[in-house]
Amino acid sequence: MTDLTSLTIAEARSGLASKSFTALELADAHLAAMEAARALNAYVRETPDQAREMARQADARLQKGDGGPLAGIPLGIKDLFATKGVRTTACSKILGNFVPTYESTITSQLWRDGAVLLGKLNNDEFAMGSSNETSCFGPVTNPWRRDGSNTTLVPGGSSGGSASAVAAMLCMGATATDTGGSIRQPAAFTATVGMKPTYGRCSRWGIVAFASSLDQAGPIGRTVRDTAMLMRSMAGHDPKDTTSVDRPVPDYEAAIGRSIKGMRIGIPREYRLDGMPAEIEKLWREGAAWLKSAGAELVEVSLPHTKYALPAYYIVAPAEASSNLARYDGVRYGLRVPGRGIKEMYEATRAEGFGAEVKRRVMIGTYVLSAGYYDAYYLRAQKVRTLIKKDFEDCFAKGVQAILTPATPSAAFGIGEKGGADPVEMYLNDIFTVTVNMAGLPGIAIPAGKDAQGLPLGLQLIGRPFDEETLFSLGEVIERAAGRFTPPKWW
Ligand code: GLN
Repeated sequence: MTDLTSLTIAEARSGLASKSFTALELADAHLAAMEAARALNAYVRETPDQAREMARQADARLQKGDGGPLAGIPLGIKDLFATKGVRTTACSKILGNFVPTYESTITSQLWRDGAVLLGKLNNDEFAMGSSNETSCFGPVTNPWRRDGSNTTLVPGGSSGGSASAVAAMLCMGATATDTGGSIRQPAAFTATVGMKPTYGRCSRWGIVAFASSLDQAGPIGRTVRDTAMLMRSMAGHDPKDTTSVDRPVPDYEAAIGRSIKGMRIGIPREYRLDGMPAEIEKLWREGAAWLKSAGAELVEVSLPHTKYALPAYYIVAPAEASSNLARYDGVRYGLRVPGRGIKEMYEATRAEGFGAEVKRRVMIGTYVLSAGYYDAYYLRAQKVRTLIKKDFEDCFAKGVQAILTPATPSAAFGIGEKGGADPVEMYLNDIFTVTVNMAGLPGIAIPAGKDAQGLPLGLQLIGRPFDEETLFSLGEVIERAAGRFTPPKWW
């Protein structure tokens, strides 16, 4: 029998339905793979007991013929999602051993549909980062290495554990969150598929907040179809999140294989950066050619405010973070460092509990929101955000149905290689992804090729609001043309 961990979700669904194996066997195969891959540091908490118990329940439901759309599918959950009775830390010391007494809406929907929890996945502290190096549990290793090299590379971030675990077959799919690129950039670094849905498509309830107007959760999977299957269970209206939108959830999987003939796809000229590696240019051209040969019409478009997106994001996101993170004061959750009075206790707890990047964001955020600077920074960034959104609206108004761009400006880099002296070096990773969050649009990253050193590269498709289906259709055309990429196992 083939190794159960190498199956796609769609293949596992058929295998379970035809009783070729059980959900318990599937869970056990993954638990064994996780144990053998601890060096990657993708999981910050394994939950073998829950996994087996949930798998047994899935088997019982399958037996009765009402397994649910994800019956028996073993998943990893980013440590930003509250899981009832299972430690949830956002990979920050300040949450300590916080064990939620409630379940996030998204994870409850996954369990409702029969999925199985394997454990909690590593991420950048409070999802701030692009390399998973800011986690209090230490960095995650990318299962991909440069040809002939054993340098350990980052999996991207902030959903580095999710991407690494999916790529290394330590789960069949994973949840992730994306505030400025945290689903799409790690997907591109690991040859996985990452979908950041339209703002409001998935409930944020029970997910640790970073920047509430930008945060959106979504799936990472090994194929476009698997990602569409996960997305269907994750999406939906939730009265507990006032920004979640009440509209029916389509059958995303049904979008796969739909004709893309005559579709207008925009190629934004502003994404052609000076000094962009030739390999990324080439990949982008190839992607456009694949869509064209499947019948799409490629048109050059302009998104004139693109260059302001990154600086504006790094004002809006820290501003919201500084407000969201005010709740970690040593009183309500996790860590408490005593002091002589309550103020000293707050200060000592926050000084001890937050890592350097989180402190930097809180300081930037409070600064740009403070009297005297608010108009110059925060208000101006909000105006820029409106212009960025309008750029996309103008483009869609001209009949463009999706936009094709590179997902990242480079392939995965080495652990410790970037951002040490200058944090902006790390922030530049998000150059192609933050615009999508600023505009609230859906975006998907699809593996599309490899660089000269054998590392995966991804393409991004940006869609109209609530038109994730088109992205799945187009994404699968790219996947079919590019083929699938699996890292050689060395761990
Ligand atoms: N890398 C970006 C940041 O550090 C985005 C992170 C995210 O999407 N959560 O803010």
